[in-house]
Amino acid sequence: MHPYQIAVIGAGITGLTQALCLQRQGHRITLFERGGERLDHHCSHVGAGMLAPYCELSEAEAEVARWGVSALALWRHIVPTLAQPVHMSCEGTLVVAHHRDRAGMQHLAERVEHAGFGTHLQWLRRDELRELEPELEGRFGEGLYLSPEGEIDPRSLLPSLVETLRQNGATLCFETEVQDLAPGEITARDERQTFDWVLDCRGLAASDQMTDLRGVRGEILALRTDEVRLRRPIRMMHPRYPLYIVPRPGNRFVVGATSIESDSLRPATVRSALELLSAAYALHPAFAEAEIVELKVQCRPTLPDHLPRIVQQDNLLRINGLYRHGYLLSPLVAETVATFIRDQRRPAETAKLWDAPAPR
Ligand SMILES: Cc1cc2nc3c(=O)[nH]c(=O)nc-3n(C[C@H](O)[C@H](O)[C@H](O)COP(=O)(O)OP(=O)(O)OC[C@H]3O[C@@H](n4cnc5c(N)ncnc54)[C@H](O)[C@@H]3O)c2cc1C
Repeated sequence: MHPYQIAVIGAGITGLTQALCLQRQGHRITLFERGGERLDHHCSHVGAGMLAPYCELSEAEAEVARWGVSALALWRHIVPTLAQPVHMSCEGTLVVAHHRDRAGMQHLAERVEHAGFGTHLQWLRRDELRELEPELEGRFGEGLYLSPEGEIDPRSLLPSLVETLRQNGATLCFETEVQDLAPGEITARDERQTFDWVLDCRGLAASDQMTDLRGVRGEILALRTDEVRLRRPIRMMHPRYPLYIVPRPGNRFVVGATSIESDSLRPATVRSALELLSAAYALHPAFAEAEIVELKVQCRPTLPDHLPRIVQQDNLLRINGLYRHGYLLSPLVAETVATFIRDQRRPAETAKLWDAPAPR
């Protein structure tokens, strides 16, 4: 196959998975990122990294679950091949609710059944719940177990993706803002460069050219304690947004996230912090003594239908709108784009990702 020169703009999870997938097809990648290599400035840095296709059905369309199942399989294949170790686990998700939020749990179970994934759902009695998560003993009378689901740690994944790209010969241009982009060309550092393909993965910054892109604000915190031991992510039903408590290496627990219709990046509010902390405390009182090690805010790049979108304009592809599913869906979106570049074919499974029907 003819190797193309491809520019990828944006080193969030969308751009990095895209660059990796295309590099593995033999193309020459130049990655442009306006931020530094620490990658601690963007939405992807803040994401919780939940890979929970079935749990997401409480809000998301069935496509997200179907795509998520395929993408989870891709992650399992990709992670062992990366240059540095990445924390990823696939122990399923346990869903619990306080009495007043039980209707939400019932609703989720119905949505999972309705979407045809009933075999991946199990109602748990008190004793079965204890077997799965002994430390939650006596706190909840029942639970839902969804499997296979998992989580991946962005803090080890993002640097590992960068290192893998570097070791395999990609040109990495950090602290390089792309000032202008068009089919087959970009301008950076006041210099125009041409490529066979240009991939715009700028997240919310692309709203200058994707006018229906908006931000949905999310606040998330990280706690540290050696008093709590959870084996898997816990989804706490919450009346306003899906809340996960995700155990991470180093006795850390990620608790998030809020979901607010706003593109404001002002610091987290007291109300949001209280809601997140109350959820953690309600799950396990030992969180009362945990250290708060992070409280972060970012805005999810979101399109009106809450689905990702690929827009083609000649040899420019815009890949955006990953919303609350950047980690869950990015490998599948990347594979869809790579198949298109290789074969000029849009895989049927992900046809709905494209903004316009395939030409006949
Ligand atoms: C609180 C929170 C929790 C979340 N939890 C989850 C979760 O559990 N699971 C999940 O799947 N998803 C989750 N998400 C969603 C996920 O994080 C996003 O979908 C994802 O990060 C979007 O990635 P992106 O690469 O499209 O955008 P970004 O991460 O924003 O990356 C875009 C990059 O483009 C760069 N850029 C922009 N303009 C230019 C330019 N002109 N030149 C060069 N570079 C440029 C930016 O600097 C940035 O690095 C969460 C999000 C939030 C906020």
